[in-house]
Amino acid sequence: MFSKILIANRGEIALRIQRACRELGIATVAVHSTADADAMHVRLADEAVCIGPPASRDSYLNVAAIMAAATITGADAIHPGYGFLSENADFAETVEDHGLVFIGPTAQHIRMMGDKITAKTTMMALGVPLVPGSDGALKSVDEARVVADKVGYPVLIKAAAGGGGRGMKVAQTADDLEEAWSVARTEARAAFGNDEVYLEKYLDKPRHIELQILADGQGDVVHFGERDCSLQRRHQKLLEEAGSPALTAAERDAIGETATSALKKMGYRNAGTLEFLYQDGQFCFIEMNTRLQVEHPVTEMVCDVDLVREQIRVAAGQPLGYKQSDIRFSGHAIECRINAEDPETFMPNPGRITVFHPPGGLGVRIDSAIYAGYKVPPYYDSMIAKLIVHAPTRAEAIARMQRALDECVVEGVKTVIPLHRKILADPQFQRGDYTIHWLERFVESQK
Ligand code: ADP
Repeated sequence: MFSKILIANRGEIALRIQRACRELGIATVAVHSTADADAMHVRLADEAVCIGPPASRDSYLNVAAIMAAATITGADAIHPGYGFLSENADFAETVEDHGLVFIGPTAQHIRMMGDKITAKTTMMALGVPLVPGSDGALKSVDEARVVADKVGYPVLIKAAAGGGGRGMKVAQTADDLEEAWSVARTEARAAFGNDEVYLEKYLDKPRHIELQILADGQGDVVHFGERDCSLQRRHQKLLEEAGSPALTAAERDAIGETATSALKKMGYRNAGTLEFLYQDGQFCFIEMNTRLQVEHPVTEMVCDVDLVREQIRVAAGQPLGYKQSDIRFSGHAIECRINAEDPETFMPNPGRITVFHPPGGLGVRIDSAIYAGYKVPPYYDSMIAKLIVHAPTRAEAIARMQRALDECVVEGVKTVIPLHRKILADPQFQRGDYTIHWLERFVESQK
């Protein structure tokens, strides 16, 4: 087992990883920007190293500074968390070139899945169903037109290098295609320096359902069931649940079998998530995330597993602690992302938190790095906490989340808690009757 892990991240996820390390008896090294000198992940770590000024590119994305911190402190592994360098194949390679362990997949698999076209062709060859669309990159708008006529409008033009919902444009009809094509390419070039695009049929009422996978890199792969992440605004998830209200146990087993057998053939290692759109009983793969995800706690609650601990264990060369038949799904879990944003305009609202009273009680978990007096810096993501509840049934989980949100007090910055309250009180949400388009319409209807 490792004796010291450097955590190349900040905020709640840095703390989350630290907690797993501590329980395993592993020392931790925090890295931080000058803006985060007072952050909780720094205060609670065994050692901390400042890696640069506030801007992410100079600190949390600064590979040279992070490698220097790892070398100076004598860390033997690096956990990248999510975001920042977590899906940067060059970083994973650099870590291993320095003789340290990267707690994640191989650089080759990160690179393969980071290009969505390669990801789709790889998965198709491994027997995973896809959204109908182009076979690969499109060379011209004329080629896009031929594919769109074949799959039928509306269609989506998507960036091969896409992420965070950027570089994605819908063409409702043939008349919109040329514009969608050029806007998507321009956006992709600006955001990712790569204007390669592909085309997918735009599904009108899908759910976003993703599958949590864990592999030991020695041939064993298991899945921990699905998360329903359909509640999104601008392709950003806001509330997630496990399991999905739309899926039967038999459907879960079937897609789980397809996904684990694909990753076995790939020789995948560590944690990963396969994202699907699910409509009319069909799963269509859209992308794979080669890292731990923000919403992993809902899976941990229903499966009673510590996914970060398992990531560390398999990275250290230990075999998987679970066979598929050991994994049981118990009850229902919901996560609300608490962002420091205006609940109506979604404008980020950084600043000093004057009062913070986290909720508690049976089945309530809060993953957060804030405290009263903490100043939310303006430089990073606006998510300041994740509130997670677990209960025997979905209805009880909803009641528990409503109770927990009522107890939660955050003063000094605006948060999206009022919006979560409205969602949880909505009869359609309570019936589990929603698609990826539901939240945007709901937000509009509240104006
Ligand atoms: P990103 O990597 O930018 O998050 P994804 O490919 O994961 O991009 O898609 C993000 C979201 O966009 C999905 O969760 C879904 O809501 C929507 N989306 C993606 N592809 C389609 C599609 N073919 N039809 C309808 N919605 C889609």
